[in-house]
Amino acid sequence: MRPAPTFPLAPNATIGIVGGGQLGRMSAMAAARLGYRCHVLTPEPDSPAALVSAGVTLGDYEDPAALRAFAARVDVITFEFENVSAEGLDLLASLKPVRPAPEVLRISQDRVSEKRFVNACGIATAPWLPVETPAELAAAVQRLGLPAVLKTTRLGYDGKGQAILREPTDLGPVFASLGPKPLILEGFVDYAAEISVIVARGTDGSDAAFDTVENRHRDHILDLTLAPAPIAPALATEARAIARRLAASLDLVGLLAVEMFIGPRGTVRVNEIAPRPHNSGHWTIDACPASQFELHIRAVAGLPLPPAIRYADAVMKNLVGPEETALWPDILATPGLIPHLYGKAEARRGRKMGHVTRLFPRGGLPGRFGLEAALGPLMRARQNELGLHAESAALEES
Ligand code: AMP
Repeated sequence: MRPAPTFPLAPNATIGIVGGGQLGRMSAMAAARLGYRCHVLTPEPDSPAALVSAGVTLGDYEDPAALRAFAARVDVITFEFENVSAEGLDLLASLKPVRPAPEVLRISQDRVSEKRFVNACGIATAPWLPVETPAELAAAVQRLGLPAVLKTTRLGYDGKGQAILREPTDLGPVFASLGPKPLILEGFVDYAAEISVIVARGTDGSDAAFDTVENRHRDHILDLTLAPAPIAPALATEARAIARRLAASLDLVGLLAVEMFIGPRGTVRVNEIAPRPHNSGHWTIDACPASQFELHIRAVAGLPLPPAIRYADAVMKNLVGPEETALWPDILATPGLIPHLYGKAEARRGRKMGHVTRLFPRGGLPGRFGLEAALGPLMRARQNELGLHAESAALEES
């Protein structure tokens, strides 16, 4: 039996991470730098986090025996993957301190409870209605109008589990493709930009919020993050205030990523929250003295939180699928590109294999042509693929 942990966690204590992906990998690397060990629960032996951790429990997130074996080997439990069932979360919480608390994960796992919570905090989202039947969908479309976005309430990511309704004739086929399961209909936000804020919050209620960033997607997968977001300072400040308010209302201990839209009239609306490190915060590894991963580990371990200072402007580009991964030698040969690879064996289409960061002096984040030039081989490859004109349009400042 391990003795009950005391906080702040002493050096060499073991942090348990549920999930074996790249978010766990980069958390484990930050933990190692702070003198902690990590132990990962994952069903996959060669998962990115397991490859850099002191230990691994191989097992399913829903298997009580695996959850018990995992908990027995760690001092505190956190997540890089938040879709553990309510029963699984309760079991883990009965065995070891769990940060963030299971209730936080329950709220963020379900788009209806998430939106209800955000609205209850007095913060705007897209207008929304829960939908379970074709008749409810028709009634919801009557109220919210078209276009609208229909999403599964659970387990959606990278554009999976959602579809846009444009015409009344879309309702039947789209419901058939997503149902029958709990759904949510959201009014379509004609957004000018997608932004996000990552905030850490400690056991003592202190917090640290990184600067607001802009996120640009390609094929529903995050492609570029621009830090700071090239938006009006008042909007960036409002977005950070929203993220801090949500973290405080959740009584969070850990990290919260808040994805938001800037609507047509400059209204900030929350789209999604995730109580874990986030792809839109990877730039912090290279541009900040303490990254999102370090703040995550510090919060979970009960260490003091340093401020979320940014030394440089940055652009982060994800390496997705076989084509972009094939550029790895060119990336390594390009001065100024900071390379990160996650150790995944196979570069399947749409799979995030790594990312690249490029730093600029503060205030020096370039516009679209400068970004194209700064990302070198990555953008050259895309110009060949799409043609220069299409690429320029994709990088147009919003
Ligand atoms: P999500 O899975 O909720 O993050 O949605 C994935 C992407 O779909 C977002 O990054 C947006 O580009 C788009 N999207 C989601 N919800 C809406 C909405 N209500 N209005 C317009 N676009 C949306």
